[in-house]
Amino acid sequence: MTATPQRTRLTWDYSPAPESADHVRLRDAYGVFVDGEFADPRSGRAAPTVNPATEQEIAQIAVAGDEDIAHAVRTARAAQAKWAALPALERGKYLFRIARLMQERGRELAIVETMDGGKPIRESRDIDIPLAAAHFFHYAGWADKLPYALAGRAHRPHGVVAQIVPWNFPLLMAAWKLAPALACGNTAILKPAETTPLTALLLAEICQEAELPAGVVSILTGDGATGAALVRAEGIDKVAFTGSTAVGKDIQAALAGRDVGLTLELGGKSANIVFEDAAQDQAIEGIVDGIFFNQGQVCCAGSRLLVQESIADEFVARLIDRVETLRVGDPLDKNTDIGAINSQAQLDRITKLMEAGVAEGATTWTSSCPLPKNGFFLAPTIFTDATPSMRIAREEIFGPVLTTMTFRTPDEAVTKANNSAYGLSAGVWTEKGSRAMGMAAALRAGVIWDNTFNRFDPAASFGGYKESGFGREGGPSGMAAYLEPDEGIYR
Ligand code: NAD
Ligand code: MG
Repeated sequence: MTATPQRTRLTWDYSPAPESADHVRLRDAYGVFVDGEFADPRSGRAAPTVNPATEQEIAQIAVAGDEDIAHAVRTARAAQAKWAALPALERGKYLFRIARLMQERGRELAIVETMDGGKPIRESRDIDIPLAAAHFFHYAGWADKLPYALAGRAHRPHGVVAQIVPWNFPLLMAAWKLAPALACGNTAILKPAETTPLTALLLAEICQEAELPAGVVSILTGDGATGAALVRAEGIDKVAFTGSTAVGKDIQAALAGRDVGLTLELGGKSANIVFEDAAQDQAIEGIVDGIFFNQGQVCCAGSRLLVQESIADEFVARLIDRVETLRVGDPLDKNTDIGAINSQAQLDRITKLMEAGVAEGATTWTSSCPLPKNGFFLAPTIFTDATPSMRIAREEIFGPVLTTMTFRTPDEAVTKANNSAYGLSAGVWTEKGSRAMGMAAALRAGVIWDNTFNRFDPAASFGGYKESGFGREGGPSGMAAYLEPDEGIYR
């Protein structure tokens, strides 16, 4: 018998393939965008936004205060009746225009998203920006079909909506919020996250280019204090928030007793469940994508891996081999799999929870990949031998850290997966269709993926159970968040 001759092992590496940022023209300082214009903030305050991969300042960004908020609410109120009274087809045309301009400036938007937030250019180029444009296209199409969206009942827009978004998908979250709100005839005040304001400010320029009427969209940059003041401002009719559960609870408490609508899209600790009959290589790719996409800073990340005990040892060993090949580094390099963590504060939060995992006795594996010297980087990490009571199995880590547990029967998988304060998403990996359907019915999560993970589509609704929040975004149900029944029966 002749053994297959061993092939010569070549030691090689990828050449750098950086996306050039040469043509990106950013201003040194950005004001607030109110009444269709950029203006110096009345607060007189500004703070830098930095590139988390280099720790270099990119621009100075206005920190909006109470007077800026009051001004934005006034102009949004003044613009709203006229915007809602436009023929729906005309509102739709503005959204189409915005979507087209986002596509035209797609490369620039992708580079800026990557510079400001640290995500790999491959992701901002192929996912964030195209999906953001797709949301505007999708809701542009709904603008003149609203009577069909919600069971034929008469509905009206809320009026002025305040929208607060996080730093993990800055432009995409802005699109998820703005597109349905505008399609339904609301005017909107958007507050981007303090570490990633730039693409929202480029979107403000796009609104100008699209000749969107003044006051329909305002962009108020700032920190948590700006967000807290916006939520409490007189004259807003609805708040839509995506971010941490702690802030979501604070907002809900602040709105108690006020006639202000609210939808919350909060954190998660989602289970990715692998049965022994699953196609293992395919499942491994899905699990890698589920937890390492955007450095794991994804509200619906598959951060709890549940593997059937009969295959667990082999499966985890293969998963580790695969994760060892992931490249951590310059987010602007097209070969980078894992970019920078969004901020020093987020890196600290992740490391603290990892320390808790070690202290509680889980086994840790960390990739041996080299990390850049500057910037906020973290090597992919996998915890095994975890138990459901450990903090790393209960709390959202929001980083490239996977917690692995095992199960024996489908019932045990359901019990363990549902044993969470959250309920945003889940993944089920099995070759058996009936088992996938049974699991989908038993899992308490807003989105369940079957033999895939992190698939997003503007036509599909997304949202949570339990502490993951309430309300849906995307698809026709995403419009329910921005309309109220005219007869007031549902409220
Ligand atoms: P965060 O909730 O503090 O920030 C989200 C947005 O809310 C930002 O725009 C922020 O400025 C604003 N904000 C902060 N405090 C506010 C307040 N009191 N009232 C109104 N708005 C306020 O999130 P973070 O501190 O950047 O991240 C902390 C944790 O949140 C992360 O570790 C992660 O677990 C979670 N998170 C979840 C998501 C998600 O998509 N569900 C996104 C980002 C962060
Ligand atoms: Mg930044």
